[in-house]
Amino acid sequence: MRKQIAAANWKMNLNLAQALKLTEDLQSYNYSENSNHQVIIAVPFPYLLPVTSKIQNPQFHIAAQNMAATTNGAYTGEVSAEMLKDLHVSHVLIGHSERREYYHEDASVLVKKIDLAIQFGIQPIFCCGESLSIRESGHQNEYVSQQVKECLFHLDQDVLRNFIIAYEPIWAIGTGKTATSEQAEEMHEAIRNTIAEKYGNDIADSVSILYGGSVKAANAKEIFGKPNVDGGLVGGASLVADEFSQIIMSLKP
Ligand code: PEP
Repeated sequence: MRKQIAAANWKMNLNLAQALKLTEDLQSYNYSENSNHQVIIAVPFPYLLPVTSKIQNPQFHIAAQNMAATTNGAYTGEVSAEMLKDLHVSHVLIGHSERREYYHEDASVLVKKIDLAIQFGIQPIFCCGESLSIRESGHQNEYVSQQVKECLFHLDQDVLRNFIIAYEPIWAIGTGKTATSEQAEEMHEAIRNTIAEKYGNDIADSVSILYGGSVKAANAKEIFGKPNVDGGLVGGASLVADEFSQIIMSLKP
Protein backbone atom coordinates (compact mmCIF):
# COMPACT_ATOMS: atom_id res chain seq x y z
CA MET A 1 0.00 0.00 0.00
CA ARG A 2 1.62 3.25 -1.07
CA LYS A 3 1.94 6.14 1.36
CA GLN A 4 -0.74 8.84 1.47
CA ILE A 5 1.02 12.14 2.07
CA ALA A 6 0.03 15.68 3.03
CA ALA A 7 3.06 17.86 2.25
CA ALA A 8 3.29 21.53 3.18
CA ASN A 9 5.42 23.99 1.26
CA TRP A 10 5.85 27.08 3.40
CA LYS A 11 7.97 28.77 0.70
CA MET A 12 9.58 32.04 1.94
CA ASN A 13 6.91 32.78 4.53
CA LEU A 14 6.58 33.09 8.33
CA ASN A 15 8.98 34.43 10.93
CA LEU A 16 10.55 32.00 13.40
CA ALA A 17 7.95 32.50 16.14
CA GLN A 18 5.13 31.93 13.64
CA ALA A 19 6.84 28.84 12.24
CA LEU A 20 7.23 27.31 15.69
CA LYS A 21 3.65 28.10 16.67
CA LEU A 22 2.31 26.62 13.44
CA THR A 23 4.37 23.46 14.02
CA GLU A 24 2.92 23.10 17.51
CA ASP A 25 -0.62 23.95 16.47
CA LEU A 26 -0.54 21.44 13.61
CA GLN A 27 0.34 18.62 15.98
CA SER A 28 -2.45 19.47 18.41
CA TYR A 29 -5.23 17.94 16.27
CA ASN A 30 -6.55 14.43 16.63
CA TYR A 31 -5.29 12.65 13.51
CA SER A 32 -6.04 9.03 12.72
CA GLU A 33 -3.09 6.85 13.70
CA ASN A 34 -2.74 5.44 10.23
CA SER A 35 0.83 4.25 9.65
CA ASN A 36 0.23 4.76 5.94
CA HIS A 37 -0.23 8.51 6.42
CA GLN A 38 2.69 10.94 6.38
CA VAL A 39 2.86 14.67 6.92
CA ILE A 40 5.90 16.39 5.43
CA ILE A 41 6.62 20.06 6.08
CA ALA A 42 9.03 21.84 3.72
CA VAL A 43 10.39 24.73 5.76
CA PRO A 44 12.88 27.52 4.95
CA PHE A 45 16.53 26.53 5.61
CA PRO A 46 17.02 28.63 8.80
CA TYR A 47 14.02 26.93 10.45
CA LEU A 48 15.02 23.32 9.75
CA LEU A 49 16.60 22.74 13.14
CA PRO A 50 14.19 24.71 15.38
CA VAL A 51 11.11 23.27 13.66
CA THR A 52 12.51 19.72 13.83
CA SER A 53 13.03 20.16 17.58
CA LYS A 54 9.27 20.79 17.93
CA ILE A 55 8.22 17.59 16.15
CA GLN A 56 6.65 15.06 18.52
CA ASN A 57 4.29 13.18 16.23
CA PRO A 58 6.16 10.36 14.40
CA GLN A 59 3.91 10.87 11.35
CA PHE A 60 5.48 14.32 10.83
CA HIS A 61 8.66 14.74 8.77
CA ILE A 62 10.72 17.76 7.79
CA ALA A 63 11.78 18.62 4.25
CA ALA A 64 14.04 21.22 2.71
CA GLN A 65 12.64 23.29 -0.14
CA ASN A 66 15.83 23.12 -2.18
CA MET A 67 19.37 21.74 -2.18
CA ALA A 68 22.64 22.40 -3.97
CA ALA A 69 23.48 20.47 -7.14
CA THR A 70 27.10 20.10 -5.97
CA THR A 71 28.63 18.27 -3.02
CA ASN A 72 30.66 21.04 -1.37
CA GLY A 73 33.10 23.85 -2.09
CA ALA A 74 33.05 27.46 -3.21
CA TYR A 75 29.31 27.88 -3.83
CA THR A 76 28.34 30.91 -1.76
CA GLY A 77 24.85 30.70 -0.34
CA GLU A 78 24.24 27.06 -1.25
CA VAL A 79 23.20 24.27 1.13
CA SER A 80 24.45 20.75 0.47
CA ALA A 81 22.80 17.36 0.80
CA GLU A 82 25.32 16.44 3.48
CA MET A 83 24.38 19.51 5.54
CA LEU A 84 20.69 18.61 5.27
CA LYS A 85 21.44 15.05 6.28
CA ASP A 86 23.31 16.31 9.35
CA LEU A 87 20.15 18.20 10.34
CA HIS A 88 18.09 14.99 10.01
CA VAL A 89 16.15 16.31 7.03
CA SER A 90 14.35 13.34 5.47
CA HIS A 91 12.90 14.86 2.29
CA VAL A 92 13.70 17.62 -0.19
CA LEU A 93 11.59 19.34 -2.86
CA ILE A 94 13.30 19.10 -6.24
CA GLY A 95 12.08 20.78 -9.41
CA HIS A 96 9.39 23.03 -7.98
CA SER A 97 8.11 25.24 -10.80
CA GLU A 98 9.25 28.36 -8.93
CA ARG A 99 12.82 27.00 -8.90
CA ARG A 100 12.56 26.04 -12.57
CA GLU A 101 11.21 29.46 -13.55
CA TYR A 102 13.02 31.97 -11.29
CA TYR A 103 16.33 30.12 -10.89
CA HIS A 104 16.43 28.47 -14.31
CA GLU A 105 16.78 24.95 -12.96
CA ASP A 106 16.61 22.58 -15.91
CA ALA A 107 16.62 18.80 -16.11
CA SER A 108 20.43 18.55 -16.04
CA VAL A 109 20.56 20.45 -12.71
CA LEU A 110 17.59 18.55 -11.28
CA VAL A 111 19.18 15.18 -12.07
CA LYS A 112 22.31 16.21 -10.13
CA LYS A 113 20.20 17.27 -7.15
CA ILE A 114 18.16 14.07 -7.21
CA ASP A 115 21.29 11.92 -7.38
CA LEU A 116 22.94 13.78 -4.49
CA ALA A 117 19.81 13.60 -2.34
CA ILE A 118 19.62 9.85 -2.88
CA GLN A 119 23.33 9.43 -2.22
CA PHE A 120 22.81 11.07 1.19
CA GLY A 121 19.64 9.14 2.01
CA ILE A 122 17.24 12.05 1.53
CA GLN A 123 14.01 11.30 -0.31
CA PRO A 124 13.37 13.74 -3.18
CA ILE A 125 9.84 14.96 -3.80
CA PHE A 126 10.09 15.47 -7.54
CA CYS A 127 7.80 18.25 -8.79
CA CYS A 128 6.52 18.38 -12.34
CA GLY A 129 3.71 20.13 -14.17
CA GLU A 130 2.72 22.03 -17.28
CA SER A 131 2.11 25.72 -17.99
CA LEU A 132 -1.27 27.05 -19.06
CA SER A 133 -0.21 27.29 -22.71
CA ILE A 134 0.81 23.63 -22.75
CA ARG A 135 -2.49 22.65 -21.10
CA GLU A 136 -4.36 24.70 -23.72
CA SER A 137 -2.43 22.99 -26.51
CA GLY A 138 -3.64 19.63 -25.20
CA HIS A 139 -0.12 18.19 -24.94
CA GLN A 140 0.10 18.20 -21.12
CA ASN A 141 0.38 14.43 -20.69
CA GLU A 142 3.33 14.07 -23.07
CA TYR A 143 5.01 17.13 -21.55
CA VAL A 144 4.79 15.92 -17.95
CA SER A 145 5.74 12.34 -18.92
CA GLN A 146 8.85 13.79 -20.55
CA GLN A 147 9.71 15.70 -17.35
CA VAL A 148 9.44 12.43 -15.42
CA LYS A 149 11.53 10.50 -17.94
CA GLU A 150 14.36 13.02 -18.19
CA CYS A 151 14.78 13.40 -14.44
CA LEU A 152 13.96 9.95 -13.06
CA PHE A 153 14.52 7.30 -15.71
CA HIS A 154 18.23 6.95 -15.01
CA LEU A 155 17.43 5.70 -11.49
CA ASP A 156 17.55 2.06 -10.40
CA GLN A 157 14.23 0.42 -9.73
CA ASP A 158 15.03 0.10 -6.02
CA VAL A 159 15.28 3.89 -5.84
CA LEU A 160 12.01 4.37 -7.72
CA ARG A 161 10.15 2.07 -5.34
CA ASN A 162 8.14 4.24 -2.90
CA PHE A 163 9.38 7.40 -4.66
CA ILE A 164 7.39 10.63 -4.29
CA ILE A 165 6.26 12.76 -7.24
CA ALA A 166 4.19 15.94 -6.98
CA TYR A 167 2.15 16.88 -10.04
CA GLU A 168 1.63 20.63 -9.89
CA PRO A 169 0.06 22.32 -12.91
CA ILE A 170 1.73 25.74 -12.96
CA TRP A 171 -1.55 27.46 -13.81
CA ALA A 172 -3.02 26.19 -10.52
CA ILE A 173 -0.16 27.15 -8.17
CA GLY A 174 -1.07 30.09 -5.94
CA THR A 175 -3.82 31.15 -8.36
CA GLY A 176 -6.84 29.80 -6.51
CA LYS A 177 -7.57 27.88 -9.73
CA THR A 178 -7.54 24.16 -8.93
CA ALA A 179 -7.40 21.39 -11.47
CA THR A 180 -10.60 19.38 -11.32
CA SER A 181 -10.28 16.03 -9.60
CA GLU A 182 -10.79 14.43 -13.04
CA GLN A 183 -7.90 16.45 -14.54
CA ALA A 184 -5.68 15.47 -11.61
CA GLU A 185 -6.63 11.81 -11.84
CA GLU A 186 -6.03 11.73 -15.61
CA MET A 187 -2.52 13.15 -15.22
CA HIS A 188 -1.65 10.99 -12.22
CA GLU A 189 -2.69 7.91 -14.16
CA ALA A 190 -0.57 9.06 -17.12
CA ILE A 191 2.45 9.54 -14.81
CA ARG A 192 1.92 6.11 -13.26
CA ASN A 193 1.62 4.51 -16.70
CA THR A 194 4.84 6.24 -17.79
CA ILE A 195 6.65 4.71 -14.82
CA ALA A 196 5.03 1.31 -15.39
CA GLU A 197 6.26 1.23 -19.00
CA LYS A 198 9.87 1.28 -17.83
CA TYR A 199 9.78 -0.14 -14.31
CA GLY A 200 6.66 -2.35 -14.34
CA ASN A 201 3.35 -2.13 -12.46
CA ASP A 202 4.73 -3.19 -9.11
CA ILE A 203 7.11 -0.22 -8.89
CA ALA A 204 4.63 2.20 -10.50
CA ASP A 205 1.99 1.23 -7.94
CA SER A 206 4.38 1.93 -5.08
CA VAL A 207 5.04 5.56 -6.10
CA SER A 208 3.09 8.22 -4.19
CA ILE A 209 1.87 10.87 -6.62
CA LEU A 210 0.72 14.06 -4.88
CA TYR A 211 -1.40 16.78 -6.45
CA GLY A 212 -0.41 20.41 -5.90
CA GLY A 213 -2.14 23.62 -6.98
CA SER A 214 -4.51 25.60 -4.75
CA VAL A 215 -5.44 22.61 -2.57
CA LYS A 216 -7.48 23.73 0.42
CA ALA A 217 -9.65 22.15 3.09
CA ALA A 218 -12.72 22.61 0.90
CA ASN A 219 -11.40 20.63 -2.10
CA ALA A 220 -8.84 18.21 -0.62
CA LYS A 221 -11.20 15.30 0.03
CA GLU A 222 -12.59 15.34 -3.50
CA ILE A 223 -9.11 15.46 -5.10
CA PHE A 224 -7.44 12.97 -2.73
CA GLY A 225 -10.37 10.61 -3.20
CA LYS A 226 -9.28 9.76 -6.75
CA PRO A 227 -7.54 6.39 -7.05
CA ASN A 228 -4.22 7.68 -8.40
CA VAL A 229 -4.00 10.76 -6.15
CA ASP A 230 -2.01 9.95 -3.02
CA GLY A 231 -2.34 13.25 -1.20
CA GLY A 232 -1.15 16.76 -1.92
CA LEU A 233 1.64 19.32 -1.90
CA VAL A 234 0.11 22.46 -0.43
CA GLY A 235 1.42 26.03 -0.46
CA GLY A 236 -0.87 28.82 0.77
CA ALA A 237 -3.30 26.65 2.73
CA SER A 238 -0.45 24.98 4.63
CA LEU A 239 0.27 28.24 6.47
CA VAL A 240 -2.98 28.04 8.43
CA ALA A 241 -3.20 25.25 11.03
CA ASP A 242 -6.98 24.84 10.80
CA GLU A 243 -6.82 24.52 7.00
CA PHE A 244 -3.83 22.21 6.76
CA SER A 245 -5.02 19.96 9.58
CA GLN A 246 -8.26 19.39 7.65
CA ILE A 247 -6.21 18.66 4.53
CA ILE A 248 -4.25 16.05 6.51
CA MET A 249 -7.56 14.55 7.66
CA SER A 250 -8.68 14.34 4.02
CA LEU A 251 -6.07 11.71 3.14
CA LYS A 252 -7.50 8.39 2.00
CA PRO A 253 -7.56 5.73 4.75
C1 PEP B 1 3.06 24.91 -4.24
O1 PEP B 1 3.73 25.92 -4.30
O2 PEP B 1 3.64 23.81 -4.21
C2 PEP B 1 1.60 25.04 -4.23
C3 PEP B 1 0.90 24.01 -4.59
O3 PEP B 1 1.09 26.25 -3.85
P1 PEP B 1 -0.48 26.60 -3.61
O4 PEP B 1 -1.08 25.47 -2.80
O5 PEP B 1 -0.48 27.90 -2.89
O6 PEP B 1 -1.12 26.67 -4.97
